[in-house]
Amino acid sequence: MSTKKTKVLILGGGAGGAVVARRLSKWSRGEVEITILDKSEYHEFRPSYLWVMTGTREPDDVRRPLKLLEKYGIKVVRAEVSKIDAANRRVYTRDGASYEYDYLVVSLGSLAGEPPGDSCAPWELAGALECRKKLANLRNREPRVVVGISSWPYRCPPAPFEVASLVKYVLEQRGLSPRITVFHEWSVPMEPFGPLMSSMFKEMLSEFKIEYIGSTKFESIDSELKTIRTSRAELKYDLAIIVPPHQPPPPVAESDLAGIDGYMDVKLPSMKSTKYDDVFGIGDVVAPRIGLGMAGVFAHFQGEHVASQILDEVRGVFMGEHYNMSGVCVMDLGYMGAAVYCDFAPKLIGGKQWPDCRMIGGARAFRVVKVAFEKQWFANLFGY
Ligand SMILES: Cc1cc2nc3c(=O)[nH]c(=O)nc-3n(C[C@H](O)[C@H](O)[C@H](O)COP(=O)(O)OP(=O)(O)OC[C@H]3O[C@@H](n4cnc5c(N)ncnc54)[C@H](O)[C@@H]3O)c2cc1C
Repeated sequence: MSTKKTKVLILGGGAGGAVVARRLSKWSRGEVEITILDKSEYHEFRPSYLWVMTGTREPDDVRRPLKLLEKYGIKVVRAEVSKIDAANRRVYTRDGASYEYDYLVVSLGSLAGEPPGDSCAPWELAGALECRKKLANLRNREPRVVVGISSWPYRCPPAPFEVASLVKYVLEQRGLSPRITVFHEWSVPMEPFGPLMSSMFKEMLSEFKIEYIGSTKFESIDSELKTIRTSRAELKYDLAIIVPPHQPPPPVAESDLAGIDGYMDVKLPSMKSTKYDDVFGIGDVVAPRIGLGMAGVFAHFQGEHVASQILDEVRGVFMGEHYNMSGVCVMDLGYMGAAVYCDFAPKLIGGKQWPDCRMIGGARAFRVVKVAFEKQWFANLFGY
Protein backbone atom coordinates (compact mmCIF):
# COMPACT_ATOMS: atom_id res chain seq x y z
CA MET A 1 0.00 0.00 0.00
CA SER A 2 1.47 3.35 -0.95
CA THR A 3 0.84 6.44 1.18
CA LYS A 4 0.82 9.87 -0.37
CA LYS A 5 3.82 11.93 0.63
CA THR A 6 3.40 15.47 1.96
CA LYS A 7 4.90 17.94 -0.50
CA VAL A 8 7.22 20.50 1.09
CA LEU A 9 8.35 23.21 -1.30
CA ILE A 10 11.29 25.35 -0.18
CA LEU A 11 11.98 28.64 -1.95
CA GLY A 12 15.70 29.46 -1.73
CA GLY A 13 18.61 27.15 -0.97
CA GLY A 14 20.62 29.64 1.08
CA ALA A 15 21.29 29.42 4.81
CA GLY A 16 17.66 28.95 5.87
CA GLY A 17 16.37 26.87 2.95
CA ALA A 18 19.28 24.41 2.98
CA VAL A 19 18.88 23.84 6.74
CA VAL A 20 15.14 23.13 6.40
CA ALA A 21 15.75 20.68 3.55
CA ARG A 22 18.54 18.82 5.37
CA ARG A 23 16.69 18.65 8.68
CA LEU A 24 13.58 17.31 6.95
CA SER A 25 15.66 14.72 5.08
CA LYS A 26 17.41 13.67 8.32
CA TRP A 27 14.41 13.61 10.61
CA SER A 28 11.66 12.30 8.33
CA ARG A 29 10.87 8.65 7.89
CA GLY A 30 9.87 9.08 4.28
CA GLU A 31 6.66 11.04 4.97
CA VAL A 32 7.71 14.12 3.01
CA GLU A 33 8.77 14.94 -0.53
CA ILE A 34 11.25 17.82 -0.38
CA THR A 35 11.88 20.23 -3.27
CA ILE A 36 14.13 23.28 -3.32
CA LEU A 37 13.74 26.00 -5.96
CA ASP A 38 16.71 28.33 -6.35
CA LYS A 39 17.78 30.59 -9.21
CA SER A 40 21.43 29.92 -8.37
CA GLU A 41 23.41 26.75 -9.01
CA TYR A 42 25.14 27.19 -5.64
CA HIS A 43 24.59 27.46 -1.93
CA GLU A 44 26.97 30.21 -0.77
CA PHE A 45 28.38 30.67 2.72
CA ARG A 46 28.28 34.47 2.77
CA PRO A 47 30.39 35.06 5.95
CA SER A 48 33.41 33.75 4.02
CA TYR A 49 33.08 36.44 1.32
CA LEU A 50 35.40 38.46 3.56
CA TRP A 51 38.14 35.88 3.06
CA VAL A 52 37.50 35.90 -0.70
CA MET A 53 38.12 39.66 -0.45
CA THR A 54 41.40 39.17 1.41
CA GLY A 55 42.49 36.38 -0.96
CA THR A 56 42.49 33.48 1.51
CA ARG A 57 39.52 31.79 -0.19
CA GLU A 58 38.54 31.20 -3.83
CA PRO A 59 34.86 31.17 -4.91
CA ASP A 60 34.61 27.36 -4.93
CA ASP A 61 35.87 27.26 -1.32
CA VAL A 62 32.85 29.23 -0.11
CA ARG A 63 30.05 27.56 -2.06
CA ARG A 64 28.69 24.11 -2.83
CA PRO A 65 26.52 23.00 -5.79
CA LEU A 66 22.94 22.68 -4.50
CA LYS A 67 22.59 19.51 -6.59
CA LEU A 68 24.76 17.75 -3.96
CA LEU A 69 21.65 17.72 -1.76
CA GLU A 70 20.03 15.22 -4.13
CA LYS A 71 22.07 12.44 -2.51
CA TYR A 72 19.89 13.02 0.59
CA GLY A 73 16.67 12.55 -1.39
CA ILE A 74 16.05 16.29 -1.84
CA LYS A 75 14.88 17.41 -5.27
CA VAL A 76 16.77 20.52 -6.43
CA VAL A 77 15.36 22.64 -9.25
CA ARG A 78 17.26 25.56 -10.68
CA ALA A 79 14.61 28.15 -11.47
CA GLU A 80 13.75 31.73 -10.62
CA VAL A 81 10.57 32.14 -8.61
CA SER A 82 8.38 34.77 -10.24
CA LYS A 83 5.08 34.54 -8.34
CA ILE A 84 3.76 33.08 -5.09
CA ASP A 85 0.02 32.38 -5.10
CA ALA A 86 -0.49 31.20 -1.54
CA ALA A 87 -4.29 31.30 -1.74
CA ASN A 88 -4.12 28.56 -4.40
CA ARG A 89 -1.02 26.79 -2.99
CA ARG A 90 1.01 27.37 -6.13
CA VAL A 91 4.40 28.88 -6.99
CA TYR A 92 5.35 30.01 -10.50
CA THR A 93 8.83 30.22 -11.99
CA ARG A 94 10.23 32.46 -14.72
CA ASP A 95 10.61 29.47 -17.12
CA GLY A 96 6.82 28.99 -17.20
CA ALA A 97 6.61 26.03 -14.80
CA SER A 98 4.52 25.95 -11.64
CA TYR A 99 4.69 23.92 -8.42
CA GLU A 100 2.00 22.94 -5.92
CA TYR A 101 2.66 22.17 -2.28
CA ASP A 102 1.21 21.07 1.02
CA TYR A 103 3.71 23.22 2.94
CA LEU A 104 5.67 26.16 1.61
CA VAL A 105 8.84 27.52 3.24
CA VAL A 106 9.91 30.94 1.95
CA SER A 107 13.63 31.57 2.45
CA LEU A 108 14.42 33.88 -0.45
CA GLY A 109 16.67 36.16 1.60
CA SER A 110 17.12 39.80 0.73
CA LEU A 111 18.24 41.17 -2.61
CA ALA A 112 21.50 43.15 -2.48
CA GLY A 113 21.86 45.71 -5.28
CA GLU A 114 25.05 47.12 -6.79
CA PRO A 115 27.50 49.10 -4.63
CA PRO A 116 27.32 52.78 -5.71
CA GLY A 117 29.91 54.43 -8.00
CA ASP A 118 33.36 52.87 -7.95
CA SER A 119 32.86 51.45 -4.45
CA CYS A 120 32.88 47.71 -3.90
CA ALA A 121 31.35 45.51 -1.20
CA PRO A 122 31.86 41.86 -0.26
CA TRP A 123 28.06 41.39 0.09
CA GLU A 124 27.97 39.11 -2.98
CA LEU A 125 30.71 36.89 -4.35
CA ALA A 126 31.35 39.15 -7.35
CA GLY A 127 31.68 42.13 -4.99
CA ALA A 128 34.18 40.27 -2.84
CA LEU A 129 36.35 39.59 -5.91
CA GLU A 130 36.07 43.23 -6.97
CA CYS A 131 37.18 44.41 -3.50
CA ARG A 132 40.10 41.96 -3.65
CA LYS A 133 41.31 43.58 -6.87
CA LYS A 134 40.95 47.10 -5.48
CA LEU A 135 42.74 46.19 -2.24
CA ALA A 136 45.63 44.66 -4.18
CA ASN A 137 45.93 47.83 -6.27
CA LEU A 138 46.21 50.24 -3.31
CA ARG A 139 49.72 51.62 -3.61
CA ASN A 140 50.08 54.82 -1.58
CA ARG A 141 51.61 54.49 1.87
CA GLU A 142 48.65 55.98 3.76
CA PRO A 143 45.55 54.92 1.85
CA ARG A 144 42.22 56.37 2.98
CA VAL A 145 39.62 53.63 3.23
CA VAL A 146 35.98 54.54 3.84
CA VAL A 147 33.50 51.85 4.86
CA GLY A 148 29.82 52.74 4.99
CA ILE A 149 26.28 51.72 4.19
CA SER A 150 23.81 52.84 1.51
CA SER A 151 20.86 52.08 3.74
CA TRP A 152 19.60 49.94 6.59
CA PRO A 153 18.66 47.06 6.85
CA TYR A 154 21.39 44.98 5.21
CA ARG A 155 22.81 41.47 5.67
CA CYS A 156 24.83 40.98 8.86
CA PRO A 157 24.65 44.18 10.95
CA PRO A 158 28.21 43.94 12.42
CA ALA A 159 29.85 43.13 9.05
CA PRO A 160 30.89 46.73 8.10
CA PHE A 161 32.91 46.89 11.34
CA GLU A 162 34.42 43.47 10.66
CA VAL A 163 35.33 44.57 7.12
CA ALA A 164 36.97 47.78 8.41
CA SER A 165 39.10 45.90 10.96
CA LEU A 166 40.07 43.14 8.55
CA VAL A 167 41.04 45.59 5.79
CA LYS A 168 43.17 47.56 8.27
CA TYR A 169 44.93 44.36 9.32
CA VAL A 170 45.56 43.20 5.75
CA LEU A 171 46.97 46.59 4.66
CA GLU A 172 49.18 46.85 7.75
CA GLN A 173 50.56 43.38 7.02
CA ARG A 174 51.67 44.88 3.69
CA GLY A 175 53.52 47.66 5.49
CA LEU A 176 50.97 50.39 4.71
CA SER A 177 49.47 52.81 7.25
CA PRO A 178 45.80 53.02 6.27
CA ARG A 179 43.41 55.60 7.69
CA ILE A 180 40.05 53.93 8.09
CA THR A 181 36.68 55.60 8.59
CA VAL A 182 33.31 53.95 9.08
CA PHE A 183 30.14 55.99 8.52
CA HIS A 184 26.73 54.70 9.51
CA GLU A 185 23.16 55.77 10.15
CA TRP A 186 23.41 54.59 13.76
CA SER A 187 24.41 57.29 16.26
CA VAL A 188 26.67 54.70 17.92
CA PRO A 189 27.98 51.40 16.51
CA MET A 190 25.49 48.51 16.80
CA GLU A 191 22.82 50.85 18.19
CA PRO A 192 19.83 48.44 17.82
CA PHE A 193 21.69 45.84 19.86
CA GLY A 194 21.75 47.89 23.05
CA PRO A 195 24.19 50.05 25.05
CA LEU A 196 26.46 47.19 26.17
CA MET A 197 27.10 46.01 22.61
CA SER A 198 27.65 49.61 21.44
CA SER A 199 30.22 50.28 24.13
CA MET A 200 32.11 47.10 23.22
CA PHE A 201 32.21 48.02 19.54
CA LYS A 202 33.30 51.58 20.37
CA GLU A 203 36.14 50.17 22.43
CA MET A 204 37.13 47.78 19.64
CA LEU A 205 37.15 50.58 17.02
CA SER A 206 39.17 52.89 19.22
CA GLU A 207 41.70 50.13 19.94
CA PHE A 208 42.15 49.65 16.18
CA LYS A 209 42.19 53.45 15.62
CA ILE A 210 39.22 53.28 13.27
CA GLU A 211 37.21 56.51 13.10
CA TYR A 212 33.42 56.23 13.47
CA ILE A 213 31.05 58.88 12.08
CA GLY A 214 27.52 58.17 13.28
CA SER A 215 24.02 59.50 12.46
CA THR A 216 25.20 59.83 8.87
CA LYS A 217 23.26 59.01 5.73
CA PHE A 218 24.90 58.20 2.42
CA GLU A 219 23.96 60.72 -0.29
CA SER A 220 26.18 60.21 -3.35
CA ILE A 221 29.61 59.21 -4.54
CA ASP A 222 31.82 61.02 -7.06
CA SER A 223 34.12 58.39 -8.56
CA GLU A 224 36.16 61.03 -10.44
CA LEU A 225 36.87 63.20 -7.38
CA LYS A 226 37.01 60.14 -5.11
CA THR A 227 34.59 61.76 -2.69
CA ILE A 228 31.59 60.40 -0.82
CA ARG A 229 28.90 62.91 0.13
CA THR A 230 26.97 62.10 3.28
CA SER A 231 24.44 64.03 5.35
CA ARG A 232 27.26 65.09 7.73
CA ALA A 233 30.54 65.21 5.85
CA GLU A 234 32.40 64.83 2.56
CA LEU A 235 34.78 61.91 2.78
CA LYS A 236 37.79 61.51 0.50
CA TYR A 237 38.82 57.96 -0.26
CA ASP A 238 41.33 55.80 -2.09
CA LEU A 239 39.12 52.77 -1.50
CA ALA A 240 35.39 52.95 -0.79
CA ILE A 241 33.54 49.92 0.53
CA ILE A 242 29.84 50.72 0.61
CA VAL A 243 27.21 48.14 1.51
CA PRO A 244 24.67 48.18 -1.35
CA PRO A 245 20.99 48.87 -0.78
CA HIS A 246 18.96 45.74 0.03
CA GLN A 247 15.38 45.08 -0.97
CA PRO A 248 12.83 42.33 -0.38
CA PRO A 249 12.73 39.64 -3.08
CA PRO A 250 10.13 40.75 -5.69
CA PRO A 251 8.01 37.54 -5.61
CA VAL A 252 7.48 38.12 -1.88
CA ALA A 253 7.03 41.91 -2.09
CA GLU A 254 4.43 41.42 -4.86
CA SER A 255 2.50 38.73 -2.97
CA ASP A 256 -0.04 38.93 -0.17
CA LEU A 257 2.59 37.46 2.19
CA ALA A 258 4.34 40.85 2.35
CA GLY A 259 4.10 43.42 5.10
CA ILE A 260 4.21 47.15 4.53
CA ASP A 261 7.92 47.26 3.58
CA GLY A 262 7.68 44.27 1.21
CA TYR A 263 9.36 41.80 3.57
CA MET A 264 7.26 38.87 4.77
CA ASP A 265 4.96 38.95 7.81
CA VAL A 266 5.11 35.94 10.15
CA LYS A 267 3.73 35.00 13.55
CA LEU A 268 6.14 34.35 16.40
CA PRO A 269 7.34 31.90 17.50
CA SER A 270 5.89 29.58 14.80
CA MET A 271 7.29 31.54 11.80
CA LYS A 272 3.98 30.86 10.01
CA SER A 273 2.64 33.47 7.64
CA THR A 274 0.13 35.76 9.34
CA LYS A 275 -2.31 34.81 6.56
CA TYR A 276 -1.65 31.15 5.69
CA ASP A 277 -1.05 28.30 8.15
CA ASP A 278 0.69 26.17 5.51
CA VAL A 279 3.28 28.85 4.65
CA PHE A 280 6.38 29.57 6.73
CA GLY A 281 8.91 32.37 6.32
CA ILE A 282 12.46 32.29 7.67
CA GLY A 283 15.74 34.18 7.47
CA ASP A 284 16.44 37.57 5.94
CA VAL A 285 13.07 37.74 4.17
CA VAL A 286 11.30 38.05 7.55
CA ALA A 287 14.04 39.62 9.71
CA PRO A 288 13.02 43.29 9.30
CA ARG A 289 9.36 42.48 10.06
CA ILE A 290 10.09 40.76 13.38
CA GLY A 291 12.85 43.06 14.64
CA LEU A 292 15.83 40.80 13.99
CA GLY A 293 19.07 41.55 12.17
CA MET A 294 19.67 39.67 8.93
CA ALA A 295 21.93 36.81 10.03
CA GLY A 296 22.40 33.23 8.88
CA VAL A 297 22.36 32.01 12.45
CA PHE A 298 18.76 33.19 12.86
CA ALA A 299 17.81 31.59 9.53
CA HIS A 300 19.43 28.36 10.77
CA PHE A 301 17.54 28.12 14.09
CA GLN A 302 14.28 29.20 12.46
CA GLY A 303 14.84 26.52 9.81
CA GLU A 304 15.19 23.78 12.43
CA HIS A 305 12.10 25.05 14.22
CA VAL A 306 10.06 25.04 10.99
CA ALA A 307 11.26 21.58 9.87
CA SER A 308 10.26 20.09 13.22
CA GLN A 309 6.82 21.76 13.13
CA ILE A 310 6.11 20.41 9.64
CA LEU A 311 7.03 16.87 10.70
CA ASP A 312 4.95 17.22 13.88
CA GLU A 313 1.91 18.29 11.86
CA VAL A 314 2.41 15.50 9.32
CA ARG A 315 2.71 12.93 12.12
CA GLY A 316 0.07 14.47 14.37
CA VAL A 317 2.41 14.64 17.37
CA PHE A 318 4.37 17.28 19.21
CA MET A 319 7.99 16.33 19.54
CA GLY A 320 9.31 19.57 18.12
CA GLU A 321 12.24 21.86 18.60
CA HIS A 322 11.48 25.09 20.41
CA TYR A 323 12.54 28.20 18.57
CA ASN A 324 15.97 29.24 19.82
CA MET A 325 15.97 33.02 19.45
CA SER A 326 19.64 33.47 20.17
CA GLY A 327 22.44 33.79 17.68
CA VAL A 328 26.22 34.02 17.47
CA CYS A 329 28.04 35.93 14.75
CA VAL A 330 31.76 35.11 14.66
CA MET A 331 34.04 37.84 13.31
CA ASP A 332 37.58 37.75 11.96
CA LEU A 333 38.91 41.18 12.90
CA GLY A 334 42.42 40.44 11.69
CA TYR A 335 44.36 41.13 14.88
CA MET A 336 41.82 39.06 16.79
CA GLY A 337 38.68 37.01 16.49
CA ALA A 338 35.50 37.79 18.42
CA ALA A 339 31.86 36.82 18.42
CA VAL A 340 28.69 38.76 18.99
CA TYR A 341 26.24 36.67 21.00
CA CYS A 342 22.63 37.89 21.30
CA ASP A 343 19.51 36.35 22.76
CA PHE A 344 16.57 38.10 21.13
CA ALA A 345 13.86 36.41 23.23
CA PRO A 346 13.77 39.31 25.76
CA LYS A 347 13.05 41.71 22.87
CA LEU A 348 10.90 39.56 20.58
CA ILE A 349 8.60 37.98 23.15
CA GLY A 350 9.62 39.62 26.45
CA GLY A 351 8.76 43.18 25.49
CA LYS A 352 12.23 44.51 26.42
CA GLN A 353 13.81 47.37 24.45
CA TRP A 354 17.04 45.48 23.69
CA PRO A 355 18.14 41.92 23.02
CA ASP A 356 20.53 40.46 25.58
CA CYS A 357 23.91 40.80 23.81
CA ARG A 358 27.57 40.42 24.64
CA MET A 359 30.84 40.15 22.80
CA ILE A 360 32.96 37.07 23.43
CA GLY A 361 36.48 36.15 22.39
CA GLY A 362 38.95 38.93 21.71
CA ALA A 363 42.08 36.82 21.43
CA ARG A 364 43.98 36.14 18.22
CA ALA A 365 43.38 32.40 18.66
CA PHE A 366 39.64 33.06 18.39
CA ARG A 367 40.04 33.66 14.64
CA VAL A 368 40.14 29.90 14.21
CA VAL A 369 36.58 29.59 15.56
CA LYS A 370 35.29 31.18 12.36
CA VAL A 371 37.29 28.72 10.24
CA ALA A 372 35.88 25.80 12.27
CA PHE A 373 32.37 27.17 11.87
CA GLU A 374 32.74 27.39 8.09
CA LYS A 375 34.02 23.80 7.86
CA GLN A 376 31.24 22.50 10.08
CA TRP A 377 28.57 24.36 8.12
CA PHE A 378 29.49 22.70 4.83
CA ALA A 379 30.09 19.27 6.42
CA ASN A 380 26.66 19.28 8.12
CA LEU A 381 24.75 20.32 5.04
CA PHE A 382 26.69 18.85 2.12
CA GLY A 383 28.95 16.17 3.60
CA TYR A 384 32.23 18.05 2.92
C1 LIG B 1 29.75 39.82 4.31
C2 LIG B 1 28.72 39.03 5.06
C3 LIG B 1 29.07 38.46 6.27
C4 LIG B 1 28.12 37.73 6.98
N1 LIG B 1 28.49 37.16 8.16
C5 LIG B 1 27.59 36.50 8.89
C6 LIG B 1 27.95 35.87 10.13
O1 LIG B 1 29.11 35.91 10.55
N2 LIG B 1 26.99 35.22 10.82
C7 LIG B 1 25.71 35.15 10.38
O2 LIG B 1 24.88 34.56 11.06
N3 LIG B 1 25.32 35.73 9.21
C8 LIG B 1 26.22 36.39 8.46
N4 LIG B 1 25.86 36.95 7.27
C9 LIG B 1 24.43 36.99 6.89
C10 LIG B 1 23.94 35.70 6.27
O3 LIG B 1 24.74 35.33 5.17
C11 LIG B 1 22.49 35.84 5.83
O4 LIG B 1 21.75 36.39 6.89
C12 LIG B 1 21.92 34.49 5.45
O5 LIG B 1 22.55 34.02 4.30
C13 LIG B 1 20.40 34.57 5.27
O6 LIG B 1 19.91 33.32 4.90
P1 LIG B 1 18.58 33.24 4.01
O7 LIG B 1 18.31 31.80 3.78
O8 LIG B 1 17.53 34.09 4.60
O9 LIG B 1 18.99 33.95 2.64
P2 LIG B 1 20.18 33.63 1.64
O10 LIG B 1 21.26 32.85 2.29
O11 LIG B 1 20.54 34.95 1.04
O12 LIG B 1 19.51 32.69 0.54
C14 LIG B 1 18.52 33.15 -0.34
C15 LIG B 1 18.50 32.20 -1.53
O13 LIG B 1 17.36 32.51 -2.32
C16 LIG B 1 17.73 32.50 -3.69
N5 LIG B 1 16.80 33.39 -4.39
C17 LIG B 1 16.59 34.70 -4.19
N6 LIG B 1 15.60 35.16 -4.99
C18 LIG B 1 15.19 34.08 -5.72
C19 LIG B 1 14.17 33.89 -6.71
N7 LIG B 1 13.38 34.89 -7.13
N8 LIG B 1 14.02 32.64 -7.23
C20 LIG B 1 14.81 31.61 -6.82
N9 LIG B 1 15.77 31.74 -5.89
C21 LIG B 1 15.94 32.96 -5.35
C22 LIG B 1 19.17 32.99 -3.70
O14 LIG B 1 19.84 32.54 -4.88
C23 LIG B 1 19.73 32.35 -2.42
O15 LIG B 1 20.31 31.09 -2.66
C24 LIG B 1 26.79 37.62 6.49
C25 LIG B 1 26.46 38.18 5.25
C26 LIG B 1 27.40 38.88 4.54
C27 LIG B 1 27.04 39.47 3.20
